[in-house]
Amino acid sequence: MVKSKDFEIQFSALKLGSHQFNFDIEDSFFTLFDYSEIEKANISTSITLVKKATLLQLDFAMTGHLTLACDRCTEDYQQEINQHFELIVKFSDIVESVESDEILILSSNEHTLSLARYIYEFAHLSLPSKRTHQSLDECNPQMLEHIEQMGLTEDIDETIDPRWENLKQLKTK
Ligand SMILES: [Zn+2]
Repeated sequence: MVKSKDFEIQFSALKLGSHQFNFDIEDSFFTLFDYSEIEKANISTSITLVKKATLLQLDFAMTGHLTLACDRCTEDYQQEINQHFELIVKFSDIVESVESDEILILSSNEHTLSLARYIYEFAHLSLPSKRTHQSLDECNPQMLEHIEQMGLTEDIDETIDPRWENLKQLKTK
């Protein structure tokens, strides 16, 4: 069982300077969340953490693939991803400190950085707006044909030819 604890970094024990962490993100990772658009994935998340006196600087390099449904033929395909994301962790005990997607504010007595939510968000930011097989040749031809046929019948239902309407009226007379 995957636990969000598996994606924690005990940063307080780290020396100042650069540190490397690796997390393998698989299907089970996304079951940690109530809702996920991603169900199948195989992503290697390599994190470079630079510990400075007053802050932590994290660079997430995410490479691998997501399994998504093709918008054209509806079958699953492998979407390659290769993305970088940054996160800055600052420390403050002032409640009103401004947090954003790239800046996380932790209380100065925290020792642990929980990264599951960030990895989840970054994986979703990697989703392409256009989700299809790379070329039409890779799409399932039977499915394409089937969808096209369904599309045609829908068109017929939607636009009733006025001549048919007139004929129907003639018949009922
Ligand atoms: Zn396809």
